[in-house]
Amino acid sequence: MDDDDSAFIPGIHNWCDRWCERCAFTARCRVFEREQIRDLKSPEDFWNALSENFKETLEMLHAMAEEHGIDIDHIIEDSKNDTSLEEEDKMLDEHPLSMITDQYLFEGKDWLESSKINGYLEELARQVNLGLMQVSEAQAQKAKIDEALEVIKWYLFFIHVKSKRVLNDLSGDFWEEYPEEEKSYNGSAKIAMISMERSMQAWKMLLDVMEDEQDSILSLLVLLEKSRKLLTALVPKYDQFIRPGFDE
Ligand code: SF4
Repeated sequence: MDDDDSAFIPGIHNWCDRWCERCAFTARCRVFEREQIRDLKSPEDFWNALSENFKETLEMLHAMAEEHGIDIDHIIEDSKNDTSLEEEDKMLDEHPLSMITDQYLFEGKDWLESSKINGYLEELARQVNLGLMQVSEAQAQKAKIDEALEVIKWYLFFIHVKSKRVLNDLSGDFWEEYPEEEKSYNGSAKIAMISMERSMQAWKMLLDVMEDEQDSILSLLVLLEKSRKLLTALVPKYDQFIRPGFDE
């Protein structure tokens, strides 16, 4: 390996979210070099800002769910009995994790394609025109919405795809000989978990602005939290996986 090659981290692209514009390792990634993506914004600042107060998001979600009579933990208990992959003929598509992430994908897509965002932006413009809101306030709200939507859209399909990958890897015993930090299902679960948590933070950002959408956003957050808990029950050691570059 020459000096030039040593700058690159082998296999880093196998355990990332492929969001190169938001990645701090572009200079050390062969895939990025090949794809020659440029003009990046500061990824560390972006993710640090988004991941702040995840605990607060969870507390808010549980309080809201309780207020709406949704017992997240009970729903998970019901599904937990079904998280075993021991039945050889069980279709991965029928696994609760696959079904819930699939449901999130479709319901999230429906939400994004609805008129909710445009309706809200039109209302902001109306308030500015009537002098009920400062232009700067409307711009700040729009910037927050744009940022949240960027994250939600990026991970909308990714969460389901990576969750299916986890189930697929778990269905074989190939990885049992590997240490936890190298098992493929741990790596897939880790990036799936990151995607779920970032999406939850982004939905919370939208919720902070679009308070009238509390019910619809809550149901999406519940799906993500159920997915997160199922994933943890299924792959409890996911956090031990060491992603080249990101976790070193
Ligand atoms: S490691 Fe970073 S730069 Fe490389 S493919 Fe993944 S997101 Fe893109």
